[in-house]
Amino acid sequence: MNPYLDDDLIALGDQARRFAAERIAPGFLERDKTRVLDRGIMKELGDMGFIAPELAEIFGGLGLGSLAAGVIHEEIARADLSISYINLLASLNGQILSHHGNPSIVKPWLTQLTRGEALIAIALTEPRGGSDAANLRLRIERDGDDYVVNGEKSSISAADQADAAVVFGRTGTVEAGAHGVTALLIPMDLPGITRRRFDCHGQRAIGRGSLFFENVRVPISYRLGDENKGFVQVMQGFDFSRALIGLQVLAVARAALDETWSYVAERQAFGRPLSAFQGVSHPLADLDTQVEAARLLCLQALWLKDKGAPHSAEAAMCKWWAPKLSYEVVHQCLLMFGHGGYDRGVMEQRLRDVLGFQIGDGTAQIMKTIIARLRAGRAAVPA
Ligand SMILES: Cc1cc2nc3c(=O)[nH]c(=O)nc-3n(C[C@H](O)[C@H](O)[C@H](O)COP(=O)(O)OP(=O)(O)OC[C@H]3O[C@@H](n4cnc5c(N)ncnc54)[C@H](O)[C@@H]3O)c2cc1C
Repeated sequence: MNPYLDDDLIALGDQARRFAAERIAPGFLERDKTRVLDRGIMKELGDMGFIAPELAEIFGGLGLGSLAAGVIHEEIARADLSISYINLLASLNGQILSHHGNPSIVKPWLTQLTRGEALIAIALTEPRGGSDAANLRLRIERDGDDYVVNGEKSSISAADQADAAVVFGRTGTVEAGAHGVTALLIPMDLPGITRRRFDCHGQRAIGRGSLFFENVRVPISYRLGDENKGFVQVMQGFDFSRALIGLQVLAVARAALDETWSYVAERQAFGRPLSAFQGVSHPLADLDTQVEAARLLCLQALWLKDKGAPHSAEAAMCKWWAPKLSYEVVHQCLLMFGHGGYDRGVMEQRLRDVLGFQIGDGTAQIMKTIIARLRAGRAAVPA
């Protein structure tokens, strides 16, 4: 129990945990090999109301808070981090589309999203770099009632499996920086789009890849937010996803810890259970403490969001701390299993899976710059 989760949220989490244990966990290892996101599971998640439950009912959501999204997210990630990308992308893009989209265009997409019938990627990073995101170069040019899109997006999660993508491109000059960027919702079946899948270290069921745009015509009604304001308006959605990513990776760490505590209490060496040795139990106790604390920080960020209070610093803290900590936790847990931990299996897959979030959605350095700017002021912390 904790002050952020009431009985209803705990019951929702329990429901998601039962579903995930029964329907998602059994295919965890297999999906790493096939590298295919199971659309059947995605549909079931939608049927259960587990995808973007925070969205308003007119958009197919349940009108629940961000904390509800958080408790579901944790349970899905506990079973398979790749599958929980469905929830992550839906909550991030759901917020962007519902706040900044033309209702007649985005409503059908949001309905499909929450039903588990559509997957929407988010495309910001380009081959020339991701940290300096406002410096992007993909061209978006107005031509009558359309925009014409040319360029490449790189390292995009679900690039080859998504049905549409929220794409950021340059409508203004390069010198205009963040103030010359426009966001579009682009269906992936439009003429002129090709895609390529990368061979990823982890998160292989969702995967990453490149999107190539060659004279792709997108109606202006598919614009999200105002022209040249896409970056400034839409980046706010990332506070939500950063707190969710924290919960996502910490859930994997918690699963690893739970299994490791059981294992070290059973496994014998030198006539005692492994846990009798402080060299085994104290590092686990240390990491367990930090996982509890980091989880509370993530819940705090979502709670602040639900209260309409600023939470950008907390969200950035979640995003740098939780992935680093989760990697340390799973690494330590793997070592506690001895040679068995090094075999292909859940522990090494978890290690590969959580590592990606030390980079994806912004690195620790960028998160710390965000925190420093919020604390010391932007003028005192130039890029
Ligand atoms: C698993 C995964 C999923 C991803 N999913 C998506 C997605 O869905 N959509 C999307 O758009 N992108 C996605 N990305 C891309 C990701 O957002 C970028 O990789 C990330 O922002 C870093 O950009 P970069 O790789 O170009 O590194 P660079 O920007 O080239 O940075 C390289 C290194 O330099 C450091 N660095 C850069 N600038 C500074 C600075 N000012 N101060 C200190 N250090 C600095 C960085 O922290 C990093 O360690 C994903 C990446 C991964 C690994």
